Amino acid sequence: MKEVLLIKLGEVVLKGLNRRGFEDVLLKNIRMSLKKVGNFSVSISQSTIYVLPVDDKSDIDNAVEKISKIFGIAAFSRACAAQKNMDDIKLKAQEYLKDKLEFAKTFKVESKRADKRFPMKSPEISAEIGGHILEKFPNIKVDVHNPDVTIMVEIRESGAYISADVFAGAGGLPVGTADKAMVLISGGIDSPVAAWMMAKRGVQLKAIHFASPPYTSPRAEQKVHELLERVSLYSGSIELITVPFTEIQENIKNKCPEEFFTIIMRRIMMQIAQRIALDYNCKALITGESLGQVASQTMHAIACTQEPLTMPVFRPLIGMDKDEIVSISRKINTFEISIQPYEDCCTVFTPKHPKTKPILKYVKQAESTVDFKPLIDECIKNIKVLNI
Ligand code: ATP
Ligand code: MG
Repeated sequence: MKEVLLIKLGEVVLKGLNRRGFEDVLLKNIRMSLKKVGNFSVSISQSTIYVLPVDDKSDIDNAVEKISKIFGIAAFSRACAAQKNMDDIKLKAQEYLKDKLEFAKTFKVESKRADKRFPMKSPEISAEIGGHILEKFPNIKVDVHNPDVTIMVEIRESGAYISADVFAGAGGLPVGTADKAMVLISGGIDSPVAAWMMAKRGVQLKAIHFASPPYTSPRAEQKVHELLERVSLYSGSIELITVPFTEIQENIKNKCPEEFFTIIMRRIMMQIAQRIALDYNCKALITGESLGQVASQTMHAIACTQEPLTMPVFRPLIGMDKDEIVSISRKINTFEISIQPYEDCCTVFTPKHPKTKPILKYVKQAESTVDFKPLIDECIKNIKVLNI
C-alpha cells in the first residue's frame, strides 16, 4: 500500500505577497533534507505539501524523522493514497487502518473535500466510510467527541488520502527566509538553544567559537562540534569559525583590573564576532545570554558589552528561566553534550568578585591599558573554518 506524507504549512500561510517565496524555500529545504534518506517527490498544491516515495528504497519512517525537524511546518500526517472513488477509499481505509481499528473502542470520520468536483459532500463521505468501518470491525463504536481513532479522509485534486495520525511539526519559519546571523557558541547549555531558536525563525546560522589553548582543551572544541551537529539537524549545515583567543585573554589577565576581566573579555569577543560576521555577510549576532543569570548578564553588563557594536544582537533566551532553557536543550538533544565538564574560555581567569553593575566609563579606562587593535587583527588572521 502506498504511504505518503501530507504536510501542513505553519506561519508561512500568514504571509501575503511574499508567501510564494517562503513556500519555495520550504520546498527546497524539504527536498534537501530528504535526499539523504531516499528518492521522494515533493510538490505543493492547495497549501499542502505532498511527499511521495518514488521507489522501494525510500523509507517513509526516515522521512518522518527528517520532516519533524524542518522549520516552517505546522503539522504533518502519514496517509494512504486511494483512487477518487468511494469503493477504493473504503477498501484502503479498512486495510490501512486495520491495526488501529482492531484495538480501538471508538472512532469517528472527518472528511474534507478540497476537490469540489467530487460528487459527494463531506458529511456524506464521513457517514458512508463510518458505516463501512462499523460493518467490518464489529467491536468498534462511533464517538464524535472523544474517539480513540479519528479517520481523516481528504479528497484533493491529486487523489484521495486517508490518515489517522497528525504529528506536530517543528513550527517556525523555513531556514533561509530570514538572512544570516552569527551565533557565539560556547560548550554550555544556553548558546545551542539560542542558535536553535533563531534557526526556528528562519535564520541561516554561522557560528563562532573562542578557544584559549592550552587553558581550554581540544576536547572542549570537539564538544562544540558535537553541539552544532545536533543543531544542524534542524538548521542545515553550519560554518564554524574558531578564534584563537589565548593571547588576548593573557593580556587582559596580566594588565587589566581583575574585577573587569570578564566584561572586558566579553566586549572584545563581541567586537571580533562582529568583524567576522560582517566578512561572512551576517546581519546580526546571536548569544545565549539570559538576564541576571551571571554577573556578565546584568542589564549594566549587557549595556557595556553592547556598546562597541553596531550590529543587532539577538538574545532569544533573555527572558527565560534556566529550567525553560534546559527543557528545550533536552528536546533538541544538546543537553547531554552540554553538561560534559570541559572548560570554556569564559571560565578560565574568572574574577573572584566580578562587578555586577559595571560602569562603562571605568570599564573603558580599565581596557585602555592594553592596545587590543593589533591583537584583534592577529587573531582574526588565524581563525580556523570548519563546515558542520
Ligand atoms: P552558555 O551556556 O551558552 O555557555 P553561559 O550561561 O555559560 O552560556 P556565559 O559564559 O556568560 O554564559 O556566556 C554568555 C554567552 O556568550 C554564551 O551564551 C555564548 O553566546 C557566548 N559565549 C560564551 N563563551 C563563548 C565562547 N567560548 N565562544 C563563543 N561564544 C561564547
Ligand atoms: Mg558558557
